[in-house]
Amino acid sequence: LTNRILIAMVAGIVTGSVINLIMHSAGIGDGIKQIIDGYLVGGLFDVIGRIFVASLKLLVVPLVLVSLICGSSSLGDSARMGPIAVKTLGFYLATTAIAITLALVFAALISPGSGVEMAGAAAFEPRPAPPLGDVLVDIFPSNPVRAMADGKMLQIIVFALLFGYAISHAGEPGRRMASFFRDMDAIIMKMVEILMTLAPYGVFALLSKLFSNLGISAILDLATYVFTVIGVLLLHALGVYTLLLKSMTGLSPRMLLKKMRPIWAFAFSTASSGATLPITLRTVEKRLGVHNSVAGFTVPLGATINMDGTAIMQGVATVFIAQVYGVDLSMGDFITVILTATLASIGTAAVPGVGLITLALVLEQAGLPVEGIALIIGVDRLLDMVRTAVNVTGDATISVIVGKSENQFEQGVYDDPKADQEAD
Ligand code: ASP
Repeated sequence: LTNRILIAMVAGIVTGSVINLIMHSAGIGDGIKQIIDGYLVGGLFDVIGRIFVASLKLLVVPLVLVSLICGSSSLGDSARMGPIAVKTLGFYLATTAIAITLALVFAALISPGSGVEMAGAAAFEPRPAPPLGDVLVDIFPSNPVRAMADGKMLQIIVFALLFGYAISHAGEPGRRMASFFRDMDAIIMKMVEILMTLAPYGVFALLSKLFSNLGISAILDLATYVFTVIGVLLLHALGVYTLLLKSMTGLSPRMLLKKMRPIWAFAFSTASSGATLPITLRTVEKRLGVHNSVAGFTVPLGATINMDGTAIMQGVATVFIAQVYGVDLSMGDFITVILTATLASIGTAAVPGVGLITLALVLEQAGLPVEGIALIIGVDRLLDMVRTAVNVTGDATISVIVGKSENQFEQGVYDDPKADQEAD
């Protein structure tokens, strides 16, 4: 399946790029272009892609709820919940701060904004960024059913943690409920597995559509910006995570990266850590060997608040916009950007393109013109795909580190390259 998904990914990129060329070549008649655009890109690819994303999202709420209830109920009486939560949050925040610092340093060295004309800016209406206070209050649900209906991930996490904790302290009824939720967990994981078999078609359709609409010329205009962002993203994913995993756990980073490959295809084609969550969770538990008691908490939390890739884009974008507008950033500005981008990436919803909206918050804090976002909007979708892959890699890496340090980890599963491939 892994290979089929990767083949679908490459085939989708090639098909989309060919369509893009056809649509921009003068020698091909308008009739043919209309058919391709209307029936293929806007018709078939669009419908299959949207059904695929919907079917992934369908599993997110039940999966997070059930998996987290199982996890917290099995940990509830061991007094480890608090330390695990603190450790996880600490790692998530620290890696995001490292990510944004790297982004600022490289952007300052490479200067992607020098020589770029402001005239290239597209029309952009800045939307108000969410106030940080609201982000905090919004974590606590007043109605769990509404939280689930609206897919409010942090609220669902809070409710599930409380529910699971209560199960582990409720005696016999708690034990009955715990076994019910364990059965539910097995069934929903099976649903994830079934839907994964559809992935090659979904990934192909999504990428064909995306690449046929991608503005190649916009990318060439902003080549230095695009490559600075992608370079720092790669450095963070392959350098920082690898070093962190090796130094904290002694585990082989290559194994983790190898097992992450299919997840990247999901993250890349959907540009949403939220839609990728079912696959991330299943891989972290069944292929990387992290016990559900840790992964059930760290993965949904990470998908919601840990966005290193987004922070990297925001760091490079801030320096880029400052350079285009001829604003010199002081040391104090850099520190402000590190703090606000770390918080902004927490407040960024795990769906496509939101990193660009919370960038407004960072720019405002640094005293830069928010309209500057218009300069980079044309290339953001491509970068969104890559940064989402980095976001989910961070979630998986930290989950393994926390799982191993809490002894909620099976080395045998992690080391087995074929783990889960013929399981279930
Ligand atoms: N698309 C990103 C994600 O879901 C968020 C963003 O940076 O826009 O992880």
